[in-house]
Amino acid sequence: GTAQIGVTGLAVMGRNLARNFARNGFAVAVHNRTAARTRALVEEFGHEGTFVAAESAEDFVAALERPRRLVIMVKAGEATDAVIEEFAPLLDEGDVIIDGGNAHFADTRRREKELRERGIHFVGVGISGGEEGALHGPSIMPGGSAESYASLGPLLEKIAAKAPDGTPCVTHVGPDGAGHFVKMVHNGIEYADMQLIAEAYHLLRAVAGYSPGRIAETFRTWNTGRLDSYLIEITAEVLAHTDPATGEPFVDVVLDQAEQKGTGRWTVQIALDLGVPVSGIAEAVFARSLSGHAGLRDASRSLPGPQPEPLEPEDAARFADQVEQALYASKIVSYTQGFHQVQAGSDAYGWDVDAGSVAAIWRAGCIIRAAFLDRIRGAYDERRDLPSLLADKQFAEEIGAAQDDWRQVVATAARQGVPTPGFSAALAYYDALRAARLPAALTQGQRDFFGAHTYRRTDREGSFHTLWGGDRTEVDAG
Ligand code: NDP
Repeated sequence: GTAQIGVTGLAVMGRNLARNFARNGFAVAVHNRTAARTRALVEEFGHEGTFVAAESAEDFVAALERPRRLVIMVKAGEATDAVIEEFAPLLDEGDVIIDGGNAHFADTRRREKELRERGIHFVGVGISGGEEGALHGPSIMPGGSAESYASLGPLLEKIAAKAPDGTPCVTHVGPDGAGHFVKMVHNGIEYADMQLIAEAYHLLRAVAGYSPGRIAETFRTWNTGRLDSYLIEITAEVLAHTDPATGEPFVDVVLDQAEQKGTGRWTVQIALDLGVPVSGIAEAVFARSLSGHAGLRDASRSLPGPQPEPLEPEDAARFADQVEQALYASKIVSYTQGFHQVQAGSDAYGWDVDAGSVAAIWRAGCIIRAAFLDRIRGAYDERRDLPSLLADKQFAEEIGAAQDDWRQVVATAARQGVPTPGFSAALAYYDALRAARLPAALTQGQRDFFGAHTYRRTDREGSFHTLWGGDRTEVDAG
């Protein structure tokens, strides 16, 4: 075979990825379960580069140069296993199967292990950027062996998004499931970013009394500063859009029940398993789920509470500035939490993930791309073992400078009855980390009281138990 890479699964993502490879000068073998898709791709886009269309699995494998590199871009889950089982028996030792779908990293770990035992490299790759990204340059998060990256990396570097400094947004994240894990956390952070932006919008609407168009302008202004990001940019677009059918702001005619495909939920599930407090991401997932409980919301609409009262124009402008501070500070917290999870996953699975490189490949191509990520990369470049983003001097200073306004915004939201779970959770996280003493001491006392779970003391080593049901003396518990 002569094709340098193959793509099987030619729905929107696979098709655009194949075209991206071809446009970058690679000969691409293409295959899809339903052959009509393969034919359509070659008919429509064959002029963009060298495509080798294959109708059967055997032809597809035969079209690839060796060691073969074969990208699977099918529906995540059972379909991926079915396709692996179809192709693996046709491959030789040293060939590389690449799964570019949104796989759960635990599935990727299982598949990698099974295929490794059969002499085949399995590379789970997180790909972010949607269909546009797949075509013009996504952010690419490959896991798998270093050996497979040596063969695959140069191709991925060609098709990846380029950061503002020209660096391709791809790096070998780490072994087995590391790439899909990091993609999962990316999506969790994406949920948190979106929630924080939504809360900022809600406050500007309800408290500042701004129209959607005015809020779009506000976001456009923010987008020229430290909040410069793809999500802020598209938020302004969405808010400025008028519904053609009614002439109303688009955002006012859309049903206010958010949906989700599940990667944010995975982030939180795994965070719970790893014991990582990703409260901002969790609140974002719960906010979507709450919005979808139409019956619960209907049944609760008459509960008492304040009606937000829009501010006077001068105060509104000042408040909008405070909201920008609250948004930025909360964003620092959600990235702090997300990177904590990356670190915890890396430690738990022995991946040795370089957090700075992860920040670097999120600078372009993906949904959370932002100027901010270059700052995070810088923080980790300065100190690879940074225990937390909040331990970085610059971030600490910035959040310190924002915290007064942040508190004002959260207090105003509470007073006016505007739900801001993201802003509030982020602030609670910040204050909990700052606290000299946490009420966790009391929690320990309660646990020892009802369950003899023991506690440690501040003044000596060891574990202790108080005889709560007896004379309340303290005994050494080892
Ligand atoms: P879909 O997730 O809609 O999957 C459709 C493709 O899967 C078709 O090519 C279909 O073949 C194939 N397929 C489904 N079941 C089987 C099976 N049992 N055996 C063989 N082939 C099968 O396609 P997308 O392009 O939307 O997404 C592809 C992957 O990329 C998914 O894992 C998805 O989660 C991920 N994704 C990532 C996005 C991102 O932004 N990063 C965005 C969207 C998706 P057929 O034509 O024969 O039906």
